[in-house]
Amino acid sequence: MTLLRGAALALFLFSNANAQSISGFTAKSATRETEIESKFKSVPSPDEVRRQHRIFTQEPHVAGSKRNNQLAEYIRDEWKKQGLEDVIIRRYDVYSSNPKSTSLEMIAPTQYQAGLRESPLDADPDTKNPAISSAWLGMSISGEVTAPVVYAHSGNPEDYDLLRKNGISVKGKVVLVRYSNPYSYRGFKALTAQREGVAVLLIYSDPAEDGYKQGKVDPDGPWGPEYHIQRGAITYDFMVPGDPQTPGWPSLPGAKRIPIAEAVSAPKIMALPLSWHDAKPLLENLDGPVAPDNWQGGLPIQYHLGGERVKIHLKIEMDNGTQPYYVVEGRIRGSDLPDEWVVLGNHRDAWVFGGVDPSSGTASMMELTRSLGELKKQGIRPRRTLVICSWDGEEVGLTGSTEWGEQFASDLRTKAVAYINVDEASSGPNFHGQAVASLAPMLAETTRSLQDPSGKSLYDAWKATVERERAEGKQTGQMNDSGIASTTLADTRIGSGSDHTVFLNFIGMPVIGLQFDGDYGVYHSAYDDFYWMNHFGDPGYRYITLMSRLWGVTALRLANADLLPFDFASYASNVRQFIDELTKGRDMSQLDLTAVRREIENLENAGKQLNETVSRKLASGAIDAKAATELNRGMMQVERNWLNPDGIPGRPWFKHILYGARYTYAHLELPGLAEAVEKQDWPTAKQQAEILQRAIETNTKLLQHLAQEK
Ligand SMILES: [Zn+2]
Repeated sequence: MTLLRGAALALFLFSNANAQSISGFTAKSATRETEIESKFKSVPSPDEVRRQHRIFTQEPHVAGSKRNNQLAEYIRDEWKKQGLEDVIIRRYDVYSSNPKSTSLEMIAPTQYQAGLRESPLDADPDTKNPAISSAWLGMSISGEVTAPVVYAHSGNPEDYDLLRKNGISVKGKVVLVRYSNPYSYRGFKALTAQREGVAVLLIYSDPAEDGYKQGKVDPDGPWGPEYHIQRGAITYDFMVPGDPQTPGWPSLPGAKRIPIAEAVSAPKIMALPLSWHDAKPLLENLDGPVAPDNWQGGLPIQYHLGGERVKIHLKIEMDNGTQPYYVVEGRIRGSDLPDEWVVLGNHRDAWVFGGVDPSSGTASMMELTRSLGELKKQGIRPRRTLVICSWDGEEVGLTGSTEWGEQFASDLRTKAVAYINVDEASSGPNFHGQAVASLAPMLAETTRSLQDPSGKSLYDAWKATVERERAEGKQTGQMNDSGIASTTLADTRIGSGSDHTVFLNFIGMPVIGLQFDGDYGVYHSAYDDFYWMNHFGDPGYRYITLMSRLWGVTALRLANADLLPFDFASYASNVRQFIDELTKGRDMSQLDLTAVRREIENLENAGKQLNETVSRKLASGAIDAKAATELNRGMMQVERNWLNPDGIPGRPWFKHILYGARYTYAHLELPGLAEAVEKQDWPTAKQQAEILQRAIETNTKLLQHLAQEK
């Protein structure tokens, strides 16, 4: 009893102490916000999250499938019950590619028929489900080929260079590559192979990367077993995401569509994924030179480059055409500022059951919306509108979010405060938070108010993870001589590969991405399911539940703030760091960035001035509604000003000049400038530097204007 009372008192003191300092809130609003947040945080329950997770992982639910569409209706109905408003299912008719049949047979030097199937595990009844698909890759073309096999390591351009040096041609052949660790998007492997004239790309999961060389495999551990197949799409969505036939406009029923042959994001190559079980017979029969040491994998064989001896016969029949995808949209209308939106989203479609990807995120979202609904039932509405979406076809080409974003681009450019994405909520206990640099401090501050299952604050747990991973060299970038401060904790280097892409790169919205991860070797396979989550990923559903809380508190702070908690001084110092990293160790004699650097200095000063103005206004306790609106609207405009309507060279859809992605999905800062500098294309680099300089100037002027006391 005493203990309990002590705990309650401590909690009370803690929350009051906390209430004094929430960025963007006056003291009075912070007290109220703290009350709202503690009510909100008390709702999510691991049992409920687990119950939802079971519903979403019950059956395979790939994009466009009947089951995935039923789940859209289920979400719609649940959201209505939970109290969400304006709940609607939006339909997009998009180009799709589903497998009709796939087969692979080695015909020389011996015969082997690949199973292309994942064998069931006795411990995990879901793996016996007859609806589990065989091996396939989304957006592969159809065809039939008989050709010799070459091993090309990870299938990156430098791997083909090495093959060339060894006199091995890949033209018209089958190239066998492995999925790589660290992650490199399979679509880049496909494009590279296509450019090399390869007939078929086979991508297999080597045990060195996500299998027994890493640790115990499913059902005894989190790593991928012998038969696991990493499905996925090979869409060239790094060129333009979404429906390949409607680049830049929404695929509403009846929309104009370009021919698929002209679509730059549609691959023109056959591709198939393999388990290591099916890749091994090919690998162990390859002739040719022994592959270099760093090409050797985790199988107990010597890897050769191949080229002649192993021949396969392969047939892929795809079903292509337009198919409806469904985005579920709901909202809680803001009490004071209904036309300012905080947008939240998670994709629903999964390659199979989607235990981690995405159903951990979907379960987390359902618990988030239930908790927001509870607040609303208690009469507590956010000041700004929360828009919540369940995306479809993320796995195919970031499709649902892209089409929705393209449809509502002009609304979003006027109204949106930020987008918060959760794809995989948890594959383990390690928190990773991403944010555009202006929201990085706010995200770090938010994690201080949440408790990690380890007993620490989420902030401390996060910091420990970042420190450990940097020491292990797993996290590069964002290194800072002054160590890890709250302003540098969030990863401000944002690439592609999930649904934030349209919002950041096309619309110019600040984005945040939240995820817990851990050892996870069953990605996109049939083994990524309910059993896996309950034994390895998050057995007590504590992290997925914490995700509901974190996602909600972050959204509520953005929705309720008196003055939006953007830190543009932090943005400026990040941009300086991006420039430093780009120019470090490079001969930059052909490009003078002095003016850009001077503009960054000005931006930083203006950001500091604005921070001071905002602090003074918040400290005064009374903020004139009209002045607040002007300030907030102005701050919302900053991200929009980072867009160049022409896009980055060669990729007009990607309009953000600070953030982009490489073809591998890896983050790429100052994309237009960086790609030109890397190619030593100095005229383009100069032009891109001028675009950057002008955008910084525009934002500096905006911030200076906003910083003036009125
Ligand atoms: Zn996902």
